[in-house]
Amino acid sequence: MIQTPPLRDSVLRHLIYSIGKDPEHAILEDWRMALSYAVRDRVVDAWFKATARTYETGAKRVYYLSMEYLIGRLLEDGIVNLELLDEARAVMDEMERDLGLVLADEPDAALGNGGLGRLAACFMESLSTVGCPAHGYGIRYEHGLFRQQFVQGRQIEHPELWLSQRHAWEFERPEVRYRIGFGGHVDTRDGVTRWHPAEEVEAEAFDTPVVGWKGRWANTLRLWSGRAIHPFDLDAFNHGDYTRAAAPEALARTISRVLYPDDTTQQGKELRLKQEFFLTRAALCDIIRRFDNQFKDVRQLPEKVAIQLNDTHPAIAGPELVRILHDERHVPFEEAMEIARGCLSYTNHTLLPEALESWDESLFGQLLPRHIQIIDRIDATHAEQNPSRTQSMRSDHQVKMGQLSFAMAHKVNGVSALHTELMKTTVFEELHHLHPDRIVNQTNGVTPRRWLLACNPRLAGLITEAIGEGWVDDLEQLEKLEPHVQDAAWLDRYTAVKRDNKAELSNWMAQTYDLHVDPDMLFDVQIKRMHEYKRQHLNILEAIAHWQEIREHPELDWTPRLKIFGGKAAPGYFFAKDIIRLINDVAAVINNDPVTNKYLKVVFLPNYNVSLAERLIPASDLSEQISTAGKEASGTGNMKFALNGAPTVGTLDGANVEIRQHVGAENFFLFGMTAEEVMERREVEDHAKKAIEADPRLAAALDLIHSGRFSPGEPDRYHNITGNLQGADYFLVCSDFTDYWRAQREVDKAFADTQGWARMAALNTARSGWFSSDRTIRGYMSDIWGAGSLL
Ligand SMILES: *Cc1c(COP(=O)(O)O)cnc(C)c1O
Repeated sequence: MIQTPPLRDSVLRHLIYSIGKDPEHAILEDWRMALSYAVRDRVVDAWFKATARTYETGAKRVYYLSMEYLIGRLLEDGIVNLELLDEARAVMDEMERDLGLVLADEPDAALGNGGLGRLAACFMESLSTVGCPAHGYGIRYEHGLFRQQFVQGRQIEHPELWLSQRHAWEFERPEVRYRIGFGGHVDTRDGVTRWHPAEEVEAEAFDTPVVGWKGRWANTLRLWSGRAIHPFDLDAFNHGDYTRAAAPEALARTISRVLYPDDTTQQGKELRLKQEFFLTRAALCDIIRRFDNQFKDVRQLPEKVAIQLNDTHPAIAGPELVRILHDERHVPFEEAMEIARGCLSYTNHTLLPEALESWDESLFGQLLPRHIQIIDRIDATHAEQNPSRTQSMRSDHQVKMGQLSFAMAHKVNGVSALHTELMKTTVFEELHHLHPDRIVNQTNGVTPRRWLLACNPRLAGLITEAIGEGWVDDLEQLEKLEPHVQDAAWLDRYTAVKRDNKAELSNWMAQTYDLHVDPDMLFDVQIKRMHEYKRQHLNILEAIAHWQEIREHPELDWTPRLKIFGGKAAPGYFFAKDIIRLINDVAAVINNDPVTNKYLKVVFLPNYNVSLAERLIPASDLSEQISTAGKEASGTGNMKFALNGAPTVGTLDGANVEIRQHVGAENFFLFGMTAEEVMERREVEDHAKKAIEADPRLAAALDLIHSGRFSPGEPDRYHNITGNLQGADYFLVCSDFTDYWRAQREVDKAFADTQGWARMAALNTARSGWFSSDRTIRGYMSDIWGAGSLL
């Protein structure tokens, strides 16, 4: 192997020979690229070693199929995992560049919407850290999640252009291409059925190496990009029709052009179904090609290949794998089904009915005529094997992707203990009854490298000084902090770290948005996608009520609080967009009230993404996890906050339940109805009206909004919101308000006791070790994939 030169030499060589600049003329981006290439060289060394080892051992490989990867920046990740931080800083110092600015120059790769995509990114990093041979497969969207801007408080969406900036992490693989067909017809000759697609595009591979902790292992994230088979119509060009000449390429590329920006409602869009098949077929072609290179008999597939479906988006993997095995390799149908099921497993991410995927059967049949036949045969076989079954994979002229995924998976998992139990009693009740061993739980986790070590260097330093660095890839070692939490001097240092992080965030907000806040306020943070079930409107209602209370008694000693919001709304989700606007309108009024604004301020930071999360979470005092119980499958934001010493105010929903068990009920501000009580409450007639009548603070807050106090030029601007809350209030904002209010006043009291609060925050850190995605991945390896570590 080639000897790796010192980082400084690598950076300078890349600046000159890869970027073509000398140090005198290099701009920030040139330095960022040169440093990235230098780090990438070291990642590649680890990558080749891991690949060679996987081939040598013939070990089982894991394939993670996901329509989304919410990655964020990669340079800092690489530097931290290769322990190059000090060296990189020294090199940049010598070049008179600020490492922080160089790192921040990298655009976020936002190829995902929210939690589901971020989970896939954490999993990729953990798979490498634990040394599990794995590939991630996804789509190389040209435009990731839109960039959010506020104009007079309203969300405006701009296209995200991460690929228009240079980025160093991918290797184009023009030689790795597969044909993906759509439409056409099916015929059977001599007992063999064949699909003849009418239209074909190619999927081209782009590889990003993902390096684990200390560079011990690196796996591949392989993203597919759409290409035309015959990219240029020369005949059309020669006839002067330049648009038609370029049309095939433009058409093929639309398939990987944009990420669908809605993660909670499913729309039956043809392009979306095409994207799902595009990803899935390309991945399966790649998996089988690699298998064929190493092994002989496709009956061995389940021994050598584990394929995880991240939600139902790649559910077509079941029928497509059966099609390949049966139609192309002539494996008997039922045996093909068994082999496919032996490889496949499926993660369910939501119980929201509007998010469960189903496709109009005529659209589906037009696009995938052979697959719909195979689904019917899978369905018939499943019905035959389970005579008591009543629910089919096809009903109401829809193809049900959840049912299909369940039937074609040997394991189906939920993402928190509560969610897994609810799956058994709601969406999958019948299938669970027929296959009682199939559903398992794997509570989500987050990678401690990105979500503590890299994003919170002050806290990471304090922890390492106290207990050594073993926690970084064995997060449960954080429990060794418990004795330190009893030490007042150590707690003071913990508090000082938080204070420094808050001061840094305040400076950044002042410089970036001209927002001036006192870092000694309680930083109360709700950052996540905008959705009614996540109840950002409950939070802002409480802010309004609290503001009123302070106005009535400005002489009292209120705990000063800054409410920070961040989050994007799906472009077509008008109610969520109204909530954003309301929060901005309320902020404008409250922040300008001279009577109260030393006690209460509200800010909504635009364009929430991974990098903003990394900035906010280390500086947070309080984590808002206030979804309607039963609606948030797990949450992972909740884990990042707890780990970074921000106690939760939250409901018994998703992984909040397990966070509370781990950190202790006395270090968690619980409020609200349980999932069971939510279901009962919905049956109560006029539940919202009754809740409003019982709580004058809530009534007054709603009246203020309704009266136009926050939208003076347009008093009825928020009547849609107030009408919803006073009427159906499906997410039970009103019914949970009073208890939420109570919990927030307890937070005020607790925060005023500086020592007590520090203890609570530090115990959240010390007891959050279980929420590492390393633990989650090890659970998948043993309970679902039957895969081992090669470290
Ligand atoms: C962690 C994370 C999420 C998920 O947050 P939840 O609060 O669990 O919904 C969404 N977006 C980004 C950018 C994240 O980092």
